Amino acid sequence: MDLDIDTVRIARTREDCVLRPGEVFLGGGTFLYSEPVPAGVTGLVDLTGLGWEPWSVDGAGLRVSGTCTLAELVAGPGALGGAPGAAGPYRALGIVGECVSALSLSAKVARTATVGGNLALGLPAGSMVGLFGALHGQAVIWMPDGGSREVAGADLVTGAGVVALEPGEVLREVRVPAFALARRTVFRRASLTPNGRTAAMVTGRAGERGPRIVVTASVTAPHGLYARDHDMLDRWLDRIGSTVGWFEDTHGSARWRAAMTRRLAHEALDELGGAA
Ligand SMILES: Cc1cc2nc3c(=O)[nH]c(=O)nc-3n(C[C@H](O)[C@H](O)[C@H](O)COP(=O)(O)OP(=O)(O)OC[C@H]3O[C@@H](n4cnc5c(N)ncnc54)[C@H](O)[C@@H]3O)c2cc1C
Repeated sequence: MDLDIDTVRIARTREDCVLRPGEVFLGGGTFLYSEPVPAGVTGLVDLTGLGWEPWSVDGAGLRVSGTCTLAELVAGPGALGGAPGAAGPYRALGIVGECVSALSLSAKVARTATVGGNLALGLPAGSMVGLFGALHGQAVIWMPDGGSREVAGADLVTGAGVVALEPGEVLREVRVPAFALARRTVFRRASLTPNGRTAAMVTGRAGERGPRIVVTASVTAPHGLYARDHDMLDRWLDRIGSTVGWFEDTHGSARWRAAMTRRLAHEALDELGGAA
């Protein structure tokens, strides 16, 4: 961004989050400051001034605030989860580090970029939606009239750069219920080059109704399935291909992404103990 704007307000209270004409929210600014000023934008409202605790965990589960940076997410909940596949009460969080690594961010950018900004952008390669989709996360959204509403983490992104946030709504936090934290989880990703943009990502959780498989990056919005077996998984992937189709850009063709997603999804189901 060339910073050709008129105002920057630091939000300190919820009332400060009511946008004035021309204003948009600012998280870490790693996207906003890297792009031309969007048409009509004349001011920024900095959410980091609200002083939200980045994350907390108690008997009800995990809460991750919208302003939690990706580095804080890894150092906090990611560390609680331990190494991928390790046992323990927070074992589901073992995929946090991998999900953050799936973003093509330097350590410096990860110290500033926020979970809320990543979700609110809704890019196909935005891995936070795949993380919270697998963890059964619920997004808590502050509405401009003072009310709040909740959206399932996996339903937050509805298209490439399209999210279920109305103008003026703030992504306050994502809540992961306690029951999901102790489940086994799985992570797989593919990109054209080792450090390239994620082109297909599959996350999953050993679920109460069978393994939960969530597909992102190769589609414009997340898709999730409780997969009883590999046949069911194949039929579901066929349906995604024939109805919504596979995403295509310079980071991978639709055909390649479809093939990679299928391979990764079957691997994920195997790891979660799906029937043959
Ligand atoms: C080198 C580089 C590589 C990148 N790679 C990737 C990548 O691989 N995948 C990817 O998805 N992104 C990528 N990005 C884009 C971006 O950095 C990340 O998505 C980051 O997580 C955005 O977070 P932020 O806090 O910086 O968002 P900001 O830039 O502050 O804001 C982004 C958008 O979200 C809105 N917003 C921010 N917080 C909230 C909130 N709490 N509630 C409501 N709206 C909010 C803002 O109004 C804005 O529209 C990359 C950026 C850079 C510079």
